[in-house]
Amino acid sequence: MPTYDYRCNNCGHEFEILQKMSDDHLKSCPKCSQETLKRLLGTGAGILFKGSGFIKQIIAVTVTLKINRKIQKKLKRNLLTRNQQQQNLNN
Ligand SMILES: [Zn+2]
Repeated sequence: MPTYDYRCNNCGHEFEILQKMSDDHLKSCPKCSQETLKRLLGTGAGILFKGSGFIKQIIAVTVTLKINRKIQKKLKRNLLTRNQQQQNLNN
């Protein structure tokens, strides 16, 4: 279950709570009972974990693309050197 950070816009009270993803966002502040709670984005272990997984995927894809490009360059270089070697042999 992910944790969510809430902040009250009325009294500034901040707290963390375990919630199911499907649970409704909290509205009432446990301190001042005003419906001025705001869920803070990008915080909480659950969200961070989920986020990092997504980012890891993006990084993985980017890295793979970079590696592919590197491999392509390397292959091209190998082909070039092989061609040169063959040309040298032919000469
Ligand atoms: Zn409050």
